[in-house]
Amino acid sequence: MQFPFPYLYNFIYQYVRKITASQIFNGQKWLTEQAILLENDGTIVDIIPTNDAGLDIEEYNGILSPGFINAHCHVELSHMKNEIPPHTGLVGFIEQILKRRDFLSQEEQSKYHTEALQLMWDNGIVAVGDICNGTSSIIPKLQSPLMFHHFLEVSGWVPAGAPLRMEKIKELQTSFAEHFNHKHISITPHAPYSVSSRLWKELKNTFADQIISIHNQETVPENELFQYGTGAFIDFYNRLNLINSEFKPSGITSFQSVAPYLQHAKQVILVHNTEISETDLLLIQQLNREISVNFFACICIAANLYIENKVPPIPLLQEAGIPICLGTDSLASNTELNVLHEIQLIHEQFPSISWEQTLQWATWNGAQALGMADQFGKLEKGRKPGICLIDPSSYSVQKLA
Ligand SMILES: [Zn+2]
Repeated sequence: MQFPFPYLYNFIYQYVRKITASQIFNGQKWLTEQAILLENDGTIVDIIPTNDAGLDIEEYNGILSPGFINAHCHVELSHMKNEIPPHTGLVGFIEQILKRRDFLSQEEQSKYHTEALQLMWDNGIVAVGDICNGTSSIIPKLQSPLMFHHFLEVSGWVPAGAPLRMEKIKELQTSFAEHFNHKHISITPHAPYSVSSRLWKELKNTFADQIISIHNQETVPENELFQYGTGAFIDFYNRLNLINSEFKPSGITSFQSVAPYLQHAKQVILVHNTEISETDLLLIQQLNREISVNFFACICIAANLYIENKVPPIPLLQEAGIPICLGTDSLASNTELNVLHEIQLIHEQFPSISWEQTLQWATWNGAQALGMADQFGKLEKGRKPGICLIDPSSYSVQKLA
């Protein structure tokens, strides 16, 4: 029914913007009724039927969606765009990163961090799960409107180095805690292939009630290392003289080998998963069921195409019911920091995957993965989730709030 006094609503809502578009995705589903978002200073004041909204409605062509969550990024590698050629394979890529990451001073790197954060904001992103090895991103982040979960990353393949690695990461934790809420800072392992058992034993003591993130099964040699003790990682460590004499192949996949440590966390974001198997997924389901560990699979398809020229088995992850979220990884392995571009690549590689699915991964699931679902991921009264207008034909986005 038409509201009888539209001018009255105009009076009540004179300080709010009234926004609508051809389609509205609220983070979990399409709104089927034509609705108007009432927005004030980024906060959604209400969502009301069109007939009740009165005059002065901003009407757009396209999809209204909550702001995007980039669940996996390395802001501190933003100065490395185009530095490493595509298709090196992961081991070659890591070798190049280690050799070349410090070619600029910290001050010069910071300029690239600031640019990267602005790029993400302009691409409709509102929150980022960011992997941190040092303090260089702190000041650019303090100046950015983006929200962050800071994953302080630890690696160390030589067992004797474990105590020093722990000492360093706790120093980094103190530096971040001076500026950011401790709820959004966690110590996190880099990858199964780069953490010694001794380091895992110390690391797991920091996992209780935490969200952690780990690069998982990004390349075939990662599983080969654990299953057979051979392959490109062993060659790589030998070249660098990084000897882990305590390492014994487990005969099982990398994920299965480190799962006993991961299960100490409240929530685990498994990043990449290009080589994940059905038995790994069964174990994830079991850990979720029996000891309530929440696992998320973070897909970074542009980086997988860049580094390994492969795509992750997304339908297998969907079938297993593992919640999926999306990440861009860094500018060292991506030409953009753009969640909508990740969606475009997923749609190109897997045409049966719908906008409804990918938008949920990019919004609500990402917000849950980063422990930010109280504010982000959903268009709902009282939230300040960011409001994006998406043109689905050109995969372009405009931030309306
Ligand atoms: Zn990464």
